[in-house]
Amino acid sequence: MARTLIAGNWKMNGLKESLGEIRTVASEMGKAREGVEVLLCVPATLLALAAEAAQGSALKVGGETCHPKASGAHTGDISAEMLADAGASHVIVGHSERRMDHAENNETVAAQAEAALRAGLTPIICIGESLEQRKAGETLDFVASQIKGSIPAGVDAEQIVIAYEPIWAIGTGEVASVEQIDEVHRAIRARLGERFGPEKADLIPLLYGGSMKPDNAGEILAIDDVNGGLIGGASLKATDFLAIYAQA
Ligand code: PGA
Repeated sequence: MARTLIAGNWKMNGLKESLGEIRTVASEMGKAREGVEVLLCVPATLLALAAEAAQGSALKVGGETCHPKASGAHTGDISAEMLADAGASHVIVGHSERRMDHAENNETVAAQAEAALRAGLTPIICIGESLEQRKAGETLDFVASQIKGSIPAGVDAEQIVIAYEPIWAIGTGEVASVEQIDEVHRAIRARLGERFGPEKADLIPLLYGGSMKPDNAGEILAIDDVNGGLIGGASLKATDFLAIYAQA
């Protein structure tokens, strides 16, 4: 059975004044619950401060993307090593907003995931279909192709986290139904089983992301092959994020 991960994704939100939310999560989440990890992925500008704010608690902090290389002439980019140095334990790679805004594809995402592992970080590899693909009945094939292409060769199942985020459910308030999530997560587990073997595949946390909120988290987190959430909007307020964590 995979461990549970409740992960926030602040995206391009948060100023120093937002650190109070991180302090609140860190102090109110209490002691780590067995098998449940809590993580906030924040903009790089806040990462070191967020790590400081989380110190002494079970809250972990992470980055939102990384460059495949460790250092060099890449103006504006940040390496996985830099994220680790700032206190990150995880990094999101291949979020659909990065795939769209920065033309990232499966190949670059796999290289980023590899970089994360090189730096000692756990990559959260994001996949998910567009509305057009869902309407055309292509969801399962598309997600399978993303899994195949975005997970680097030679990784151990225990080293990665997968987040399924249907693009049409991100930031729209339109959450996927329990049946839709169940179907895709089962298919993802089956594909991972073909790659890693069923026992190892069972150890990979599969997160759902897309308009997860305190009032729908309970039923989503209760789905068999859902091992947590990647939460955007509802991770910005400590009270909402803690209310989701309480249901994990
Ligand atoms: P949302 O974002 O919860 O605001 O829909 C989720 C994500 O994009 O990670």
